[in-house]
Amino acid sequence: MTINVAKISKLDRASVLHPFTQLADFASGKLGDPIIVETGKGIRIQDATGKELIDGFAGLYCVNIGYGRTEVAEAISRQAYRLAYYHTYAAHTTDELAILSDRLVRMAPGKMSKIFYGMSGSDANETNVKLVWYYNNLRGKPKKKKIISRMRGYHGCSVVSGSLTGMSFYHDHMDLPVSGIIHTGAPHHYWGAEAGESELAFSARRATELDELIQREGADTVGAFIAEPVLGTGGITPPPEGYWSAIQEVLKKHDVLLIADEVITGFGRTGSMFGCHHYGIEPDLITIAKGLTSAYFPLSGSIVSEKVYQVMEEGAAKVGAFSHGYTYSGHPIGAAAANAVLDIVEKENLPGNARVVGDYFQKRLSATFAQLPIVGEVRGVGLMGAIEFVADRDRKTRFDAGLKVGARVSKAARDRGLIARAMPHGDILGFAPPLVTTKEEVDEIVSIAEAAVREVM
Ligand code: PLP
Repeated sequence: MTINVAKISKLDRASVLHPFTQLADFASGKLGDPIIVETGKGIRIQDATGKELIDGFAGLYCVNIGYGRTEVAEAISRQAYRLAYYHTYAAHTTDELAILSDRLVRMAPGKMSKIFYGMSGSDANETNVKLVWYYNNLRGKPKKKKIISRMRGYHGCSVVSGSLTGMSFYHDHMDLPVSGIIHTGAPHHYWGAEAGESELAFSARRATELDELIQREGADTVGAFIAEPVLGTGGITPPPEGYWSAIQEVLKKHDVLLIADEVITGFGRTGSMFGCHHYGIEPDLITIAKGLTSAYFPLSGSIVSEKVYQVMEEGAAKVGAFSHGYTYSGHPIGAAAANAVLDIVEKENLPGNARVVGDYFQKRLSATFAQLPIVGEVRGVGLMGAIEFVADRDRKTRFDAGLKVGARVSKAARDRGLIARAMPHGDILGFAPPLVTTKEEVDEIVSIAEAAVREVM
């Protein structure tokens, strides 16, 4: 099928409200025409004008198995022919869903019991917040409801998940955050450490700050702490040494649940199946989405630990049915897609590939960029990485925001055939290629990125 580019562009501009887009610039044409993405194969996509791009960001860190996997398309099609939909209310299920759930409980870190399904990372985080509230109501602790998240954490865009997100530009003009959500310091040593402070000392300080915050608020009012094992949209920042053990100690001390938001890190990106495995995190609730279906179908999950589930089951006698659910909770096509994707993740050992190719990728990023005069820090883990640009390396000063250095590098990369994301927080170029990326493809990604950085320098 040939796409009529002019016609589709016109229809799009007239009627699509695009997320995270400068609306006036798009409407006036200043941003150019919409990019009509038409096909994808492996780590590449092609637009309707025939231009091919390496997708160095796997869509939005989600197409982990790469594009064009016919096994998944066939699984989706088979399920759609057999049974396109049935709900999961009142104990209805499908074979694909039951098989998927058993598989996820066994794969997940910690002692997990059940999965509640949604359609997006945002709604799965909303569910997790409701589960914290429900759990504490059932335990007779109705005041223990506040949720602590981190500055620069990203947890979604709905009313509660958008409030958990710790970047003010996601709140401005949207009347967020809602009350009962508190933010604590970001786990970023490069920007947050005091002069001469080691990673370990910085982690201990962040844990002490969390401890003091919980005490100030009153431990009997704090229900949970939510965090990504590796800070994602806030700048692709692996935790500093000792961070997770210090934080978990504080949470245990105050009986505060830990929600691990594994929307990006789940299913292999760090080089381990889950970020929690990678960093020794023992969560009470886990949020999964993106990699669960590699974005071949919208599906998310809230994985509930035995500890939380036990209280829910015991409480049922007092409160009746668990009154939460979406029309599409546990959608059979999503479950079939997830099973087909997890078959690939396991058979092709994609966490292992993310570890081996990821090590190579991290080394190539550091060797190529770390010493450049406009680079402050190169960081990452597995197949996620970032280059942070600064005006002055020695004094650690940022570029004037108006210079849009990160965005200019990202544009220069795109012009050369590579998608690397200008992260929304600061001048940061982010990478999160599909987990099937090879070392040769890493070389391509790094050499295009280098040309782009040198053009802007
Ligand atoms: N949590 C994390 C860590 C994310 O990175 C994202 C999206 O990027 C979300 C939650 C929200 O997911 P969604 O966009 O599917 O609502």
